[in-house]
Amino acid sequence: MRVANLDGRLALITGDGAAVDVADASGGLFGPDPMSAFGDWARFAAWATARGPDDAGAGDDAAGADDAGAGDVVTGRHEHRAPVDPARLGPPIPRPAQIFAIGVNYREHADEAGYPPDSMPVTFTKFASSLTGPDATVDLPEGHVDWEVELVVVIGTGGHHIRRDDAWDHVAGLTVGQDLSERVAQLEGTKPQFSLAKSHPGFSPTGPWIVTLDEIDDPSDLAISCAVDGDTMQDSRTSRMIYDIPELIARLSAVVTLLPGDLIFTGTPSGIGNRRTPPRFLRSGETLTSAIESVGTLTTRFR
Ligand code: ZN
Repeated sequence: MRVANLDGRLALITGDGAAVDVADASGGLFGPDPMSAFGDWARFAAWATARGPDDAGAGDDAAGADDAGAGDVVTGRHEHRAPVDPARLGPPIPRPAQIFAIGVNYREHADEAGYPPDSMPVTFTKFASSLTGPDATVDLPEGHVDWEVELVVVIGTGGHHIRRDDAWDHVAGLTVGQDLSERVAQLEGTKPQFSLAKSHPGFSPTGPWIVTLDEIDDPSDLAISCAVDGDTMQDSRTSRMIYDIPELIARLSAVVTLLPGDLIFTGTPSGIGNRRTPPRFLRSGETLTSAIESVGTLTTRFR
């Protein structure tokens, strides 16, 4: 299933791209807050699975095609199968308790960035106020703003000391993320300022939705790419991670208690602007497109 934040309300996206409002469809059992899916993720997932991926309910034809606009939320009485307008989607997890971000987690990016692999994955945070949705316009601060497309893991069931073999059972699903980074502040000091330099407003686009693992053939090997105004900048596969998703969950939870709705940005492949010759940064008027196979696409405009 695909779980989204549509106009600030928890929604399921059906196979044909329409939306089901969860609060309406569940009679108030879940929602409308998108975070309500994580009060008891297993219970929510069981409810959503039981109702079926395209079970928007009977009567959408009877509702007529012109009594509401395309992409309207499907409710019990007013049903529409038109795909949702991406501009109405917010970050699928708008208020995570914790956001983990992993640095230099692809071999070729570690090489371009000049870092040898550490025994622990390099871990920082992106402050939650930097989250934005999958179709967003971001104001460029002073400095050099760079792209980092990343697969983002959404924790469904938390835990401490999660074993590698059990790690996937704790995952609600996957989403696409951009770890936008202002390189001047990140790198000018004697110690790197990862968390601050990557947390300007809008610097954490996520979405377009959470895709659950049952919809993904091999969640450990997905094509991942990003492009600026159509020019491909990053193009890799998530199977090239140094620490794969189960290993990240095991190593993070060996220290920190993971909580439902937590996000893990799993690192970016090579091709960042800062390591290009000459360096290339985002400019006003440009559009960044970030895509992960079987998960979705983010569109981020800059001004
Ligand atoms: Zn990153």
